[in-house]
Amino acid sequence: MLPANTVGWGAARSCIRTLAEYGAVRKKEIGAENVYDFSLGNPSIPAPDCVNGAIAELLKGDSVALHGYTTAAGVVSLREKIAEELNGRYGTHLTPDHLYVTCGAAAALCIALRAVLFPGDEVIVPAPFFPEYRVFTEASGGVLVPVPPRGDLQIDVEALERALTPRTRAVIINSPNNPSGVIFDEENLRALASVLRRQEEKTGEPVYLITDEPYRELVYDGAAVRSAIEFYDDTFMAYSFSKALSIPGERIGYLAVSDRMRDAGNVYYSVLGAGRALGYVNPPSLFQRVMERCLGQTADVSQYRANRDLLCAGLREIGYDFVEPQGAFYLFVKCPIPDAKEFSERAKKHELLLVPSDDFGCPGFVRIAYCVSADMIRRSMPAFRALMDEFR
Ligand code: PLP
Repeated sequence: MLPANTVGWGAARSCIRTLAEYGAVRKKEIGAENVYDFSLGNPSIPAPDCVNGAIAELLKGDSVALHGYTTAAGVVSLREKIAEELNGRYGTHLTPDHLYVTCGAAAALCIALRAVLFPGDEVIVPAPFFPEYRVFTEASGGVLVPVPPRGDLQIDVEALERALTPRTRAVIINSPNNPSGVIFDEENLRALASVLRRQEEKTGEPVYLITDEPYRELVYDGAAVRSAIEFYDDTFMAYSFSKALSIPGERIGYLAVSDRMRDAGNVYYSVLGAGRALGYVNPPSLFQRVMERCLGQTADVSQYRANRDLLCAGLREIGYDFVEPQGAFYLFVKCPIPDAKEFSERAKKHELLLVPSDDFGCPGFVRIAYCVSADMIRRSMPAFRALMDEFR
């Protein structure tokens, strides 16, 4: 006998990975240039020079110190700098003792959930959502409660309010959003904050808001990205350098506990305990130092903006229906038929790899990851047209 949940999570293939693997096989069969692979959210632009420059510089120093263990929460000087950056942006009063450096946003989310959930607690997620939230929540004994979005893919705050119960312990939001690219606006975030505050007053118990922000720096048209940490006290912020600096394989990010959170000191202890319990020990030592030197820098995201413009103009002209994304590198397109899996299968016949939306908790769409070459987007347009023509 083995635990059914871990076997289940391992055996249930992520539809994104399955599609990407199909793509790898297909590229071998017919040539990479003939497959239009929009499956993976893997950054396609190089890390800024500061990353490799910092590594080269660090390698000249004391190797023993560089590769040794660090404090579990991350080196204090890095946490000081992160606190300063966030305080400047959001008017918070964070100190290093509100920050826990992690192996990416994934670890930050797992640690936050583990720090606050009791078995059977409910975690509300506005759809569409990153599918791993389900695994992360269930692994901490929680139950995921998806809530459908508004037509413009902002959070449907009234629907979310109706989903609140005395067992609601946390809400996870993600803006700019994977898979929609939508940025939740200030009005939406303020409305969510007031609903959660009302719930806290009613029950006397905290409802933690976990704001997952790995795409915060990937925004276009000068769009403002506000953070829930500005509007709601009981907020955790999960952040990752993966996308902003194009270094997803290096596994570095952080979790911030709002300084205004009730009982913030004990919550931070619970974060430290959760990190221990999950066996993280400390985040990668080399990359903590690299981040210290590169904080505030981002990769040149103009290529993503150009890709978005190219893709949106092409698909709009063909007749596809979508909300134009202002951030991240995803486009969430409405399928011309209700069954997204069926549509994704039909797209494969045109060598188009589009992720069906079922696992994002929002049926009837496909996700297009446009962190690809502009050339591939241009070459894929006849395939998108032929696909749509099948449904006219
Ligand atoms: N949250 C969202 C919404 C994501 O899209 C991802 C990765 O794609 C993560 C979290 C995990 O980020 P990381 O790879 O930095 O752990």
